Amino acid sequence: MLTVTEASERIMAEIRQLDAESVPLKRALGRVCAEDISATVTMPPWSNSSMDGYAVRSADITPVMGGERVTLRVVATIAAGEFAPRPLKRGEAMRIMTGAPVPEGADSVIRKEHTDGGKKKVEIRDALDVWKNIRPAGEDYQRGDVLAKRGAPIRPALLGVLASSGISKVRAFRRPRVAIISSGDELVDIDEFDAVVAQRRIVSSNSYTLDALTRVAGGIPVDLGIAADTKASLKRKLEGARDCDLILTSAGVSVGDLDHTRNVFEELGGEQKFWKVKMRPGAPLAFGMLKDIPWLGVSGNPVSAMVSFELFVRPALRKMQGHAGLFRRTVTVTVEEEVKIGAKLTHFLRAIVRRTADGTLVARLTGQQSSGMLTSMVKANALLIVPETSPKVAPGSQLHALMLDQSLEETSAFSL
Ligand code: AMP
Ligand code: MG
Repeated sequence: MLTVTEASERIMAEIRQLDAESVPLKRALGRVCAEDISATVTMPPWSNSSMDGYAVRSADITPVMGGERVTLRVVATIAAGEFAPRPLKRGEAMRIMTGAPVPEGADSVIRKEHTDGGKKKVEIRDALDVWKNIRPAGEDYQRGDVLAKRGAPIRPALLGVLASSGISKVRAFRRPRVAIISSGDELVDIDEFDAVVAQRRIVSSNSYTLDALTRVAGGIPVDLGIAADTKASLKRKLEGARDCDLILTSAGVSVGDLDHTRNVFEELGGEQKFWKVKMRPGAPLAFGMLKDIPWLGVSGNPVSAMVSFELFVRPALRKMQGHAGLFRRTVTVTVEEEVKIGAKLTHFLRAIVRRTADGTLVARLTGQQSSGMLTSMVKANALLIVPETSPKVAPGSQLHALMLDQSLEETSAFSL
């Protein structure tokens, strides 16, 4: 049996970055740039005012520094989107709005509050703004500057920067198409819920969690439905995954009489790379390559399927999309209760991690840890990692926890 780290390394060694495609800017959010992108213009394109006020020549208002008041002739008004009709001359001011181009000859914008607000002439009462309130052309970036390097994640700010430079399409790595196949004669989809009510079947909840996890990880789920526990049915489903970038099956990889997935995979020409990982939940993990398509077969237990996805599938999908950061962050936490594990396996226990008033991170378990209890995943924001070498962990001890979401960073009240 491989350790979790060994299994992860074996999988990641087979995963290749996908090819790039051209994507409309707004659709590129969350993807990764496949090439360097340079600025086509200079931003801002002209020096502009950062205040509503009066564009002036500092030489004209030096007396204000000595406590005097100076009156200038107002010769024009420049709104954002307009340009000054002519350069500013000695003794003159122009009314100017935020974002409007500063006229040639002006070197300061005196904010309106430091004047009498006059329209024909203006009295300058305060010289605090001498040399100020002008945003020079190119202060954000210059034409030719690299705005994004190959490998840069496309986040909202970068989208805005690219838009400002007129870039309407970007080359980004493709999102992986993930074939999702559930298997088991006990399973139905929601539209056959009558069978569940009759206590004959359960809903394939993995079809929903794995679909959602795939989307959150940037992939495109391709739901191939539920295979029956027969070789023929599994074969048909696996064949339907031919144009996908990754195959994700759940269930049928244990040692039960009807656990056919691994056999069918090999009968189709797949090469199984390993089976089983020293972890709980999710020990019966299978990994292989079907021609050049990676296959991960996770245990059907709803929690096992999710934990295996987090540990092994998500990093693979991120690598395919060109991300540099592939793995979830682990943090050191202090456990608030005694933690015991049984089997000699690395345990990933569902936990709630929170930050106490003094800033330390503490963890408590969500309760019972059965791998069939999907509600425990609803409560958890982290997986507490208990090494096989620590069968009993006393309260107050430190362990690592894998953070599953950003809820630690979010609070209900704004505070600084
Ligand atoms: P298996 O991996 O086939 O041994 O299944 C392990 C457990 O997971 C069994 O209790 C199954 O009923 C359950 N299970 C398998 N597939 C799913 C699924 N798609 N959704 C919810 N539960 C499942
Ligand atoms: Mg089964």
